[in-house]
Amino acid sequence: MNKTSNADSAEIEKFSQLAHRWWDKDSEFKPLHAINPLRLDWIRSHVPIEGKKIVDIGCGGGILSESLALTGAQVTGIDLSQKALKVAKLHALEAEVKGLEYLESSAESLAEQRPEFYDVVTCMEMLEHVPDPSLVVAACARLVKPGGWVFCSTINRNLQSFLMAIVGAEYVLNMLPRGTHEYAKFITPSELLSLAESAGLSAVNLIGMHFNPITQRYWLGSGTKVNYFLALQKSV
Ligand code: SAH
Repeated sequence: MNKTSNADSAEIEKFSQLAHRWWDKDSEFKPLHAINPLRLDWIRSHVPIEGKKIVDIGCGGGILSESLALTGAQVTGIDLSQKALKVAKLHALEAEVKGLEYLESSAESLAEQRPEFYDVVTCMEMLEHVPDPSLVVAACARLVKPGGWVFCSTINRNLQSFLMAIVGAEYVLNMLPRGTHEYAKFITPSELLSLAESAGLSAVNLIGMHFNPITQRYWLGSGTKVNYFLALQKSV
C-alpha cells in the first residue's frame, strides 16, 4: 500500500537525507518545531481533538503527529520517507507516546483502505512537495467522516512569497536548505480552495502565518501572501 505515482522521489529523498536531524530543534527543522504550538492551538480552536481519530498526511519525523497524540487524539501518521518514519517511530517509543501509529503510505492509498474513517485530517507543509496536490486534497476529503475537519497549510505563489520563502529563508537567513522549496509548486489560496470545493470540502477559515526574522517570532493573522493555513469541513 505504500507507493504512489503522485510522489516526487527527489522530494522524498531530500527529507530522507535530513531525517536523522528531525528532532533537533536547531536543525533544518527548527521552523517546524517553532510553528508547532501555533498550529496545534489553531486546530484545537476549531475542534476538540481529545479522543478523535486523526490522520497526519506527510507526517515526516512526527512533530505534529506526536503533539496531536499527546493531546489525547488517536493518530495515524503517514509519509513515503521510510527514514523519516523510522525516526518518528523511534522518537514516539522513547517518549512513550500512546495512541500513535505510523504507516508508510500515500494519502491516496490510505483513502482507499479507510474511507470516512477519520474525524480530522491534517496535511501541513506537504502539498507544495507533491506533483498533483488535487489528488491529495481529494484523498483528504475521502479519508474524513462527514462533518469532519481537514486542516492544510502551504505556501502562496507570488513575488512576495518567492522573496520570503525561497530567497529569504533559503539564501539570506539560511533557515532552510537551498532547494527545499520550488516556486512552481507553491499554491495560491484560491487554487487550494477550488481543489477543496471540487472534493466536497467547504472553507471555514483562512489565515496567514507570519514570521519576524529579528524577533524569530511566528504568529497567525490576516494576510495570506506567504504562508497560510486553511480549515475545511466536509458536509454532513
Ligand atoms: N507535515 C510535517 C512534515 C512536513 S515536511 C510537519 O509539518 O511537521 C514534508 C513531508 O512530506 C516530508 O516528510 C515528505 O517525505 C512528505 N511527502 C512528500 N511527498 C509526499 C507524498 N506524496 N506522500 C506522502 N508524504 C509525502
